[in-house]
Amino acid sequence: MNAFRYARANDVASALATVAADPKAKYVAGGTNVLDLMKEYVEQPSVLVDITHLPLRGIDPAPHGVRIGALALMSDVADHPAVARDFPAVSQALLLSASPQLRNMATIGGNIMQRTRCAYFRDATQPCNKRAPGAGCAALEGVNRQHAVVGGSDHCICTHPSDLAVALLALDAVVHVRGRAGERAIPFASFYVLPGATPQRETVLEHGDLIAAVELPASPLARGSYYLKVRDRASYEFALVSVAAALDVAGGRIRAARVALGGVAPAPWRAHDAEAALAGKRPDAAAFAAAAQAATHGMRGRGQNDFKIALARRAVARALAHAGGAA
Ligand code: SF4
Repeated sequence: MNAFRYARANDVASALATVAADPKAKYVAGGTNVLDLMKEYVEQPSVLVDITHLPLRGIDPAPHGVRIGALALMSDVADHPAVARDFPAVSQALLLSASPQLRNMATIGGNIMQRTRCAYFRDATQPCNKRAPGAGCAALEGVNRQHAVVGGSDHCICTHPSDLAVALLALDAVVHVRGRAGERAIPFASFYVLPGATPQRETVLEHGDLIAAVELPASPLARGSYYLKVRDRASYEFALVSVAAALDVAGGRIRAARVALGGVAPAPWRAHDAEAALAGKRPDAAAFAAAAQAATHGMRGRGQNDFKIALARRAVARALAHAGGAA
């Protein structure tokens, strides 16, 4: 680990100013991701600005849902009665993430900002365009069983590791960000950017921006949501494929549907074709099978990860069978 300076922020304005003044400064909260990466020389910040004392921990009612402070702990959000009742996919995604010890340290803001688990990214001896732009991508011709089947590019085929982010995408979350120009709201669907030719850029945030909160709008759809995670072992493992599915069913027909996938793309992946295939249909196995087929439109494997496409189809059908109270 390189030497770095530690600075504790006591208010949002000073946190913003400290990071904005130094292009190599970073925020730290739970530290469950950035410290690992520093030990592996993947992240080499000049200063870590500790934001854990900022008043961003609340889980509060919002006019049309709930507002979750960026520093709320994963465990607290997962167990919060309003979150579990009105946004079950969020609670389930959190409880299927990491381990209890990590969930007691890691924050919501940190979770959605965590970096890919691509093994080449975390190995400073390997070429990786995300870590060192222009260096190449060892995964393209390497061991890529875990890698993306959609949304990648010739520069990067990593997958995004967050379970929570998949649920937030499905449920139309909004990220509230504070920057030097004040606070702005970013729809979760616009928060991440795909790698293209610049895989080092992962979100629309600018240097110094601080996530203040994530807001979730309540709806029958959100209340009928479900999160399914498929992984190599039953706990403490990232998703091979995951699905956040939500159904709003009235009069025996699907009024609205949401399907988002994790483990398949460099960012949480919304399956618009699957949602369109479900609209107006009866919530039955035939409709779910058709939606599952549509969810994998455009997916392409690289040999080792071909299995993810069939796995995604089965996972979508299964998640839909549990959504909307159908279970
Ligand atoms: Fe780096 Fe992305 Fe290639 Fe992994 S897939 S080695 S993160 S460029």
